[in-house]
Amino acid sequence: LTDFYRIDTLLTEDECEVRDRVRSWSRERIAPRAADYWERGEFQADRVLELGELGVAGGTIAGYGCPGISAAAYGLASQELAYADSSFTTFFGVHSGLAMGSIARFGTEEQKARWLPTMARCETIGAFALTEPDHGSDAAHLETTATPVDGGLLVNGGKRWIGNGDNFGVAVLWVQTPEGVAPFLFEPDTPGFTRTPMLGKIAKRAVTNVEMRFTDCFVPESNRMPVTGFRNVAEILRVTRHHVSWAALGEAIACYEAALEHAQRRMQFGKPIGAFQLVQAKLVEMATEITKAQLLSLQLSRLLDAGQATAGMTAMAKANNSKIARDCARLAREVLGGDGILHQRDVMRHLVDIEAVYTFEGTWDINRLIVGRELTGLSAFS
Ligand SMILES: Cc1cc2nc3c(=O)[nH]c(=O)nc-3n(C[C@H](O)[C@H](O)[C@H](O)COP(=O)(O)OP(=O)(O)OC[C@H]3O[C@@H](n4cnc5c(N)ncnc54)[C@H](O)[C@@H]3O)c2cc1C
Repeated sequence: LTDFYRIDTLLTEDECEVRDRVRSWSRERIAPRAADYWERGEFQADRVLELGELGVAGGTIAGYGCPGISAAAYGLASQELAYADSSFTTFFGVHSGLAMGSIARFGTEEQKARWLPTMARCETIGAFALTEPDHGSDAAHLETTATPVDGGLLVNGGKRWIGNGDNFGVAVLWVQTPEGVAPFLFEPDTPGFTRTPMLGKIAKRAVTNVEMRFTDCFVPESNRMPVTGFRNVAEILRVTRHHVSWAALGEAIACYEAALEHAQRRMQFGKPIGAFQLVQAKLVEMATEITKAQLLSLQLSRLLDAGQATAGMTAMAKANNSKIARDCARLAREVLGGDGILHQRDVMRHLVDIEAVYTFEGTWDINRLIVGRELTGLSAFS
């Protein structure tokens, strides 16, 4: 894989082993079917248990059957999955990062012991339900409510864009309570719950997103996670944006490598097109941005492991890497000429999939505002 600055020398043996393990599996088991499943708008569901056997779900979480690997190893696993297929990586990010991460961070001992071991094996699939029809970036002002009743709470409202929403065993559901925004563990067989797949997606077609409706859904008190406040949403996103930064990198590298290979092979005017200065300039721009993004994500991983990564730091890496991935995909598409729009060359699929990466877990603008707040001490949000 592209490694112009020998970033490999900064990794431990264990980190390289995790990366190589995920690389072999995803190239053999995910990549060959990615285009076909994307075109049909279908998720590679029969690969989920195999992913569980790979031993990376749960990432840095220690105990409860989770791998407890370093942040860099986890990031590299996301990078490798994304190199193979962006949609499958979103399944992984939602399940492992957002859902398992929230349970590990906010759950009670009982909740962690009940859910994390089967989730680590990918026998139970996780979802993370935050976004609402009227609250995307502005997730602090959720309108889905949980009203206290005898023995638990009644949930009413709706969610939108929820990944893994069609096949989850447990969802981390964020709602307004009288005390503020709080997470609940929500099970799909709850009476009053309905969901509708979101159709017409032209990005991330091989992973499902659903709209959810909750009508007087009873959630027992034991499913309440013992934290309150929007700062907890910000806290989980602080961590998960780190692996989105690595995943975006995986897509950027896939596009760059496709362009490089094409530039070395495709003959025009009696020469490989890679011999032309204008084509080289595009390849150099991609390789430079990828190298900078690799260093950003790796240092961010080290800071996370040391407990020093701030929200601004992870927001910066997520925004930067999804932006450079978007730029690399566009440049790679250009270098491939007409072939660039063919499914067989993967680049166009990455190009449209990255549009979603650029927007979820905080848009480019929102992540820059998080960095801006940290730099200035002044918040642009109300
Ligand atoms: C494929 C996909 C998967 C997703 N999966 C999940 C999931 O599993 N769970 C979940 O809860 N959500 C999920 N989401 C939702 C995602 O997090 C939101 O789409 C995202 O937060 C942006 O919200 P929005 O789409 O409502 O855009 P909006 O918030 O309406 O933003 C529209 C535009 O306005 C800009 N904007 C908004 N506010 C400001 C501001 N203050 N200053 C400057 N610009 C601003 C934004 O940057 C953006 O360009 C997913 C989305 C997609 C596309």
